[in-house]
Amino acid sequence: MVDQTARESRQVVARAVAEPQAKGEGIPLRIVGVHKTFADRDRRIPALQPIDLEVGAGEFVCLLGPSGCGKSTLLSIVAGLEPASGGSVWAGEREVRGTDTDRVLLFQEAALFPWLDVQHNVEFGLRQAGMPRAERAAVARRFIDLVHLGGFERSYVHQLSGGMRQRVALARALAINPAVLLMDEPFGALDALTRDRLQAELEAIWAATRKTILFVTHNVREAVALGDRVLVFSPRPGRIVREFRIRLPRPRRLEDHALVDQAAEILAVLHAAAEMEGGRHGR
Ligand code: ADP
Ligand code: MG
Repeated sequence: MVDQTARESRQVVARAVAEPQAKGEGIPLRIVGVHKTFADRDRRIPALQPIDLEVGAGEFVCLLGPSGCGKSTLLSIVAGLEPASGGSVWAGEREVRGTDTDRVLLFQEAALFPWLDVQHNVEFGLRQAGMPRAERAAVARRFIDLVHLGGFERSYVHQLSGGMRQRVALARALAINPAVLLMDEPFGALDALTRDRLQAELEAIWAATRKTILFVTHNVREAVALGDRVLVFSPRPGRIVREFRIRLPRPRRLEDHALVDQAAEILAVLHAAAEMEGGRHGR
């Protein structure tokens, strides 16, 4: 079933990326000594220790770590939504100074506009960018088809399931043709079956568009299913404790023995890191 979805996805994706608008290929990301301490009124909360990370153009990198270790903070910094306390982020040749359409951030809760239907949610960024009406309608339709939502163009957010909402969010993100997708536990709130399907679809979309993806999850198997590399973070203040290069052939199957074994190895490292750091912080 997942294989079937993956195959269909690859066909749809092949059609979509044959169009010129979809050629927003990935650019490299370079994170140099980025650290972050939040300052509350009278408290300082160190969220991230200095992070050094290079992500290749078109690479799929998964960040794995315990809750509160600074994963969302790092993604926000790369997105340009949150300033770092120090260090720098480079997207291609340019230093990140704020948000830009070369990078989009997707969250667990698809941040859609409830007063717009699916079509107009997907068109939103294109309209902001000044794309003429007919053209943006056509682009939106292509990406709605890409995420298997053809026929739901006129539906409103409250009429959609969680999985469908994430599909709309993904279509909206892809429509503006970013080079980098920043995904913060995008499938974390979905049921297992929907999550498996969306994982397979995302892998197919990534394979065809060659976008650079930085993907946060706390699901180890999801990380192994999707990532070229999986980076394991320590508890807060987060730092990268281990890096795994995942060499399994694609498309990957969640129930594949090699994948399950790799996930078990990574889970053990995650637990060890949590205990080591937890001891140090007296948790
Ligand atoms: P994760 O995504 O890995 O679960 P976060 O990046 O959301 O972790 O948070 C890391 C730490 O920074 C947490 O302890 C959190 O409470 C703190 N934090 C996050 N955002 C803020 C903020 N705006 N102000 C103060 N503390 C924050
Ligand atoms: Mg988070």
